[in-house]
Amino acid sequence: MSALPWSLLPNSAREADDGSLLIGGCSVLELAAEYGTPLFIYDEDHLRNRCQEAAASFGDQAVYAGKAFLCLAMARLVHEEGLRIDVASGGELFVALAAGVPGERLVMHGNNKSLAELHAAASARVGRLVVDSFDEFELIENVHEETGFVFDVLVRVTPGIEAHTHHYLATGQDDSKFGFTLSTGQAAKAIATARSSPAVRLRGVHVHIGSQVFEAKSFAAALAVMAPIVDAHQLDELSMGGGLGVAYVEGEQAPTLSEYGSILREAALAAGLTATLAVEPGRSIVAGAAITVYTIGTIKEVTGFRTYVAVDGGMSDNPRPVLYGSGYETFLPRAVRADRNRTVRVVGKHCETGDVLVREGKVPEDLRVGDLIATPVTGAYGHSMGSNYNKVPRPPVVFARNGDARLVVARESYDDLIRNDRL
Ligand SMILES: *Cc1c(COP(=O)(O)O)cnc(C)c1O
Repeated sequence: MSALPWSLLPNSAREADDGSLLIGGCSVLELAAEYGTPLFIYDEDHLRNRCQEAAASFGDQAVYAGKAFLCLAMARLVHEEGLRIDVASGGELFVALAAGVPGERLVMHGNNKSLAELHAAASARVGRLVVDSFDEFELIENVHEETGFVFDVLVRVTPGIEAHTHHYLATGQDDSKFGFTLSTGQAAKAIATARSSPAVRLRGVHVHIGSQVFEAKSFAAALAVMAPIVDAHQLDELSMGGGLGVAYVEGEQAPTLSEYGSILREAALAAGLTATLAVEPGRSIVAGAAITVYTIGTIKEVTGFRTYVAVDGGMSDNPRPVLYGSGYETFLPRAVRADRNRTVRVVGKHCETGDVLVREGKVPEDLRVGDLIATPVTGAYGHSMGSNYNKVPRPPVVFARNGDARLVVARESYDDLIRNDRL
């Protein structure tokens, strides 16, 4: 059996003289000693390079989907690299604004925005609001009447396309809670509503077919469905949403952001699209930039079945395996190139049988209690989907770059766990 495929590690990953892993010029072993485990380590240059790649392909129309991973430092980094930010709740809006990102650089999403969230969006003067329902149009008009703010909007369209991904992640099919259905005429009606509303300026339409999509032709197909609508209604903008997949395990292959850009531009040309083309990549910007480092607490051989390796985190820092059955690789940061000849199940510390991080994790033979063990490609939807289940404090996040590491999210304390409790 094989060593960990190097391509799954962040760009700046290097092997130190002793065989251990360096990220951003920092020793992963030393970072774990300093900050404890579980620990998210991001390669800051990797994050910046992915932002630059998106900006090179889409310019100002590259919008980072904040839900994949958001904190003050990330919002600021994305803004510095010239991307706009897509926020999908009042909380995400708050974080982006708190990081100093101007409201005009934000795109506000959500299938059930509250009146308070729309007020917050108006007072921030968000650059774009993506309208998702007729009920939302009514709230928007209320906010407009009170504040005078006119929202620049995109109408979210459900194009009737089944993206090849996990069914929880597919959002383009007609049977969806998102957007206005094209096939039933709801989309055309929403466009007409927007046109006649004094509360909004209609700028274009938006489509998001799903997440973790590997097949570029799914995006091209969605664009081909949307182009005639853009044309028929003489709209200025088409946002294709996010969804570009990333490789998580050995053997997977995904288009790069540049390839994705070329595919979309080709499809736009083929469809005769003249409107501005925007995208909202989340996962493809952040997933590969990070690893999560854990400490092994127990190794249990269950005779006749398997070996369970339990770590000090689990579904509270990475719920993706539980939610979607997602696969991950695993490796030892002390011996990053070691052959992995043993197969174990890496599990967390939560009170659930389903609390699995890696179902069939390949590890070196000499794995032992006390070892650090890591999962690569954990930069997206790990920290952001994390929880305090079992009252486990959320892990810290460090950004490593040029031999320096900075703490961008501190580990939660036990006091944080009862901060909002009242007796
Ligand atoms: C989730 C989402 C994205 C980002 O998706 P990724 O798969 O992370 O690229 C972008 N836009 C919208 C509307 C989304 O819901």
